[in-house]
Amino acid sequence: MQTRVPLYIDGSFTESAATRHIPNLNPATQLNLANTPCATPDEVNRAVASAKQAFETWKDVPVIDRARLMMKFVHLLKQNQDEIAEILSQETGKIFADAKGDVWRGIEVVEHACNIPSMMMGETVENVARDIDTSSYMHPLGVCAGITPFNFPAMIPLWMFPMALACGNTFVLKPSEQDPLTPMRIAQLFDEAGFPKGVLQVLHGDREQVDMLLTHPDIKAISFVGSAPVGQHIYRTGAQHLKRVQCMTGAKNHMVIMPDADKKQVISHLTGASVGAAGQRCMAISVAVFVGESAQWLDELKDSMAEVKPGAWNDEAAGYGPLISRGSRDRVLGLLAKGKEEGAQCLLDGSSFTHPDFPEGNWVGPSLFSNVTPEMTIYREEIFGPVLLAMQVETIDDALKLINDNPYGNGVSLFTNSGGAARHFQRNVQVGQVGINIPIPVPLPFFSFTGWRNSFYGDQHAYGKQAVRFYTETKTVISRWFHHGEEVQGPNLTIQM
Ligand code: NAD
Repeated sequence: MQTRVPLYIDGSFTESAATRHIPNLNPATQLNLANTPCATPDEVNRAVASAKQAFETWKDVPVIDRARLMMKFVHLLKQNQDEIAEILSQETGKIFADAKGDVWRGIEVVEHACNIPSMMMGETVENVARDIDTSSYMHPLGVCAGITPFNFPAMIPLWMFPMALACGNTFVLKPSEQDPLTPMRIAQLFDEAGFPKGVLQVLHGDREQVDMLLTHPDIKAISFVGSAPVGQHIYRTGAQHLKRVQCMTGAKNHMVIMPDADKKQVISHLTGASVGAAGQRCMAISVAVFVGESAQWLDELKDSMAEVKPGAWNDEAAGYGPLISRGSRDRVLGLLAKGKEEGAQCLLDGSSFTHPDFPEGNWVGPSLFSNVTPEMTIYREEIFGPVLLAMQVETIDDALKLINDNPYGNGVSLFTNSGGAARHFQRNVQVGQVGINIPIPVPLPFFSFTGWRNSFYGDQHAYGKQAVRFYTETKTVISRWFHHGEEVQGPNLTIQM
């Protein structure tokens, strides 16, 4: 029997009584690494009840002690970074160096969570009226839940629960059913760090388990990262059940290339940002918008992309690994076929790529289309594969219109040597994360991850100060202390002016 992934409930790693399991396959070999249980309703209820009980004491643990536990956790994550990355690369297919980056980006958020005492400082104004002071305090909400996608199984769970816990909440994590072994290794290290039992619970499953969390009366807030249609369902259902919800969702990220940009930089960055991680990043560049004469660089771009060699997780020379599943590969191949059918020109076609040592692997080779129009399916849909679309416009304002008409607003990049063009672009683009000569502008954790429009539903974003606001509510205290023997005024029957 294959390994069954345990649940983490009430401080114990336990085997689920689930009757339904989802197989976890190595995306290069299709070997079964483990089976993910779909937690039973009783297990979901037990996890939430344990988190609710743990909240009663965790909320009163001094903030500096919560920070110290985070410091232990971050230390263990760093000590075990390679081992986590090893697990991660085998279950996602990511090449090892990229898997290490996934873990590292998560570690940085935990480091940030160690700063929680200063981030939880409220506001105070002395003497707002005679002898009266006002102070605001940040209080945790209670039990929060997180639902995460397959593509960053270390980083994205670490975007969520360390910040929520540092604020004094308890947390129920439902990681992606496609790669649960990485978050479970992280949960073991969390347990080793010595946090009180019940503050973190990990449940497994798919939409059924997510819906139990969305409707559970004891869950106060939901954090979600995943595709836009699922994010819309989560946002609507969570709000309908009167929860606070933040959803970081899908994307179609453009890179605009001005003719005055440095050609070599453009080609190198565009190649890495489009096919790195097999294009399975929510901040991957999927559309290159060439302004004016920069379109002449297309052939060199094609050559550069053709040089990237897909390969296995343990191959140091490989540029990227296979897609997460057969289903993802079939979907990407379907979109490549659709692109050709709808009249885009396929300059580089990765649809027939197979790896000589891993013929069963889910690879798609680097692919490049030109003559793409906004009506085409390949432009309208998020492909989430190693596929770049090239479009050509006359001016920077044409590029801005194209991007602002696209429903997504996660990330965007401009390559130029003109400060004036850059300022005009960053001010007018309707996208929440803008890179100027930076291909993938993901903010470090002391900022927040600020996607816009259909790439985000909610108001407070992931990590940074916004996460502290999301995971807390404000209590405002207005206070006065009477002087001994002070004369008592008659009752006030009107609003004081
Ligand atoms: P997904 O939406 O299929 O799944 C995400 C999570 O939702 C998983 O835990 C899954 O079990 C659950 N889920 C799936 N279908 C559900 C349903 N019908 N009802 C309730 N829950 C459901 O996403 P994925 O394929 O795992 O991840 C890729 C997507 O995530 C891409 O669209 C990518 O752009 C997006 N993403 C966004 C960000 C961001 O920060 N904006 C970051 C990473 C990934």
